[in-house]
Amino acid sequence: APDRRDFTGADPRAVLKEVFGYDDFRGDQQQIVAQVVGGGDAVVLMPTGGGKSITYQVPALVRPGTGLVVSPLIALMHDQVDALVANGVRAAYLNSTQQLAERQAVEQDYLAGRLDLLYVAPERLSSPQTTALLQRGTLSVIAIDEAHCVSQWGHDFRPDYLALGDLAVRFPGVPRMALTATATRATHREITERLDLPRAQHFVASFDRPNIQYRIEPKVDPRRQLVQFIRSMAAASDEAPAGIVYALSRKSVEQTAEYLAGQGIDALPYHAGLDASVRARNQSRFLREDGVVMVATIAFGMGIDKPDVRFVAHIDLPKSVEGYYQETGRAGRDGEPSVAWMAYGLGDVVQQRRLIDASPGDRAFKQRLGQHLDAMLALCETVGCRRQNLLGYFGQDAEPCGNCDTCLTPPETFDGLVAAQKLLSTIVRLQRERKQAYGAGQLIDILRGNATERVRQLGHESLATFGVGSDLSDQDWRSVVRQLLARGILVARGEYGTLDLGEPAAAVLRGEQPVPLRRDVMGRKGSGGSTRR
Ligand code: ADP
Ligand code: ZN
Repeated sequence: APDRRDFTGADPRAVLKEVFGYDDFRGDQQQIVAQVVGGGDAVVLMPTGGGKSITYQVPALVRPGTGLVVSPLIALMHDQVDALVANGVRAAYLNSTQQLAERQAVEQDYLAGRLDLLYVAPERLSSPQTTALLQRGTLSVIAIDEAHCVSQWGHDFRPDYLALGDLAVRFPGVPRMALTATATRATHREITERLDLPRAQHFVASFDRPNIQYRIEPKVDPRRQLVQFIRSMAAASDEAPAGIVYALSRKSVEQTAEYLAGQGIDALPYHAGLDASVRARNQSRFLREDGVVMVATIAFGMGIDKPDVRFVAHIDLPKSVEGYYQETGRAGRDGEPSVAWMAYGLGDVVQQRRLIDASPGDRAFKQRLGQHLDAMLALCETVGCRRQNLLGYFGQDAEPCGNCDTCLTPPETFDGLVAAQKLLSTIVRLQRERKQAYGAGQLIDILRGNATERVRQLGHESLATFGVGSDLSDQDWRSVVRQLLARGILVARGEYGTLDLGEPAAAVLRGEQPVPLRRDVMGRKGSGGSTRR
C-alpha cells in the first residue's frame, strides 16, 4: 500500500499498537521480541493462544529485511497471510499449491525488498533453489513454527524438519527462533540440539490453561453421553456454546454430526474427505455464527483463531498427551471458563493397540507409539488431579487444581496394594534370580499364569509368583501397570520399555504405602481378557 509506514528500526511497542492494535505485550512477548530484535536466537515454548505469532511478526517488521516463517501447515498459510495483509503487513507465502506465475511474483517481491513476512513449508526450504533465492535477498529473522516436529520421539515428527538444522550455516547472522505449543523436557532438548540453537535464550511459559476444566468419563453410551454433556454446557450459559467434537474416523465424524443434529444440536461435520466447498461452508458457519458444534477429525482446528470455543469434546482417545493438550487447547482462548470433555473406554485401548501393532515401522517406533498411548491412559486413569498430571507430563509442577473432575469428585478407588506387590516382587525376582528385565506383556503373562511359548522357553513357570495374579484380567493388569507408572512406582526403561522399580516401590513392597487404584477403569474380575466398554 502506498501509505504504508516503514517500521524498520521502530519501537516494537509502537508496531504492536499501530499494526496489530494491541496496547501491551503479553507474558514473555516483550522479552522475546527484544532478544530477537537484538539479533539473538530464541526457543519459545508457549501454549496455544499464548500469542507466539506476535513474537516473530514484530521483529520481522522492526528489523531490516523479510521475516521467514517455516510452517508445516500449508492449509493455514493462506489464512495467516490474508489476516496479515488485512493489517497492512506485506506478507506472502511460497508453497506447492501455487501456480508458477504466482510463485514468481512472490519471489520478485522478496528480492525487491517488498515483503515483511514470507511463509514457507519446510520441504521448500530443503531445496537448493529456494536457499539460493533466499540468499539473494535479505532475511530479518527465521521463525520455525511447530518446532516439536523435529523430534523423532515426539508425536508429530516430520523428516523435513531435520534439514532445518543447518539454517545457521545457510543464513549466517540471521536470528532464529523455534516455537512450539507442546514440548516435554526431552522434546525441548531435541529442538535446541537439532535446530542448532546452542546460544538461544529460552522462554518457557506455563502450560497451564487455568480456565479449562478437564473432565474424562468412562464410555458407556458415547453419543448419549455427548448429547448430555453438550446440553449441560448449553444449560449453564446464556447463549448456545460453540464447541468442537473430535472423532478419529471420517465415518464416525459424519454419524456423530448427524446424530447430534437429530437431537436438535446445531452440529456440522468436517473432515478431509468432504468436498472443499462443504468444508469451507461449515468452517465459515462455525467461525461466524454462534453456537455451532463442529464434529471433526483432528486436522480441524489447527490455526483456527476462534477465541470463544466453549468446549472441546473427544469421543475417541487421542493418540498422545501432546495431541490431547493441543486439541483441548483450542477451547477458551478468550480466557473464559471452558471445558475439555472426553469419554474413553477399554475399547479405545484395544483399538489403538491394534493400530499400533498393524502400523508400519520398526519395533522401536511401535514402542514409542505404545509409550505415547500409555501416557494418555495414565491421564485417563489417574486418581489425582488431571491438570497436575497433564502439566507433569510437560515437566511442570503444579498443585491439585480443585477444578477438574477428579479434584471435584474424587474417583472411587480400591486397595491395589496386593496387586502392586505381586507385580513388583515379580520384577525383583527376575532381577535377582535371573538378572532379567521385561516389559509389561511378559510380566502380565507370568502373573496371570499364561504358559505361553516364551514363558516356557524362559522357564518363567518356575517363578514363585507365576500365576498369583490370575484374579485380574489382562486388561486389568495393564491398567495396574499404567497407574503405577503414572505414580512413579514403576519406571519404564530403554527402547523396549522394560519395567523397573521406581523410588516409592520399596515402601509399597514393605506395605507402608497405600496404593489406591481407580475402580471404574478396570474390567471385571477373573474373566481373562474381558473388556468393558
Ligand atoms: P499462538 O500462535 O501462540 O497459538 P496467537 O499468536 O495465534 O497464539 O495469538 C492468540 C490470540 O491472542 C490471537 O487472537 C492474538 O491476536 C491474540 N494476542 C496475541 N498477542 C496479544 C497481545 N499482546 N494483546 C492482545 N491480544 C494478543
Ligand atoms: Zn484438578
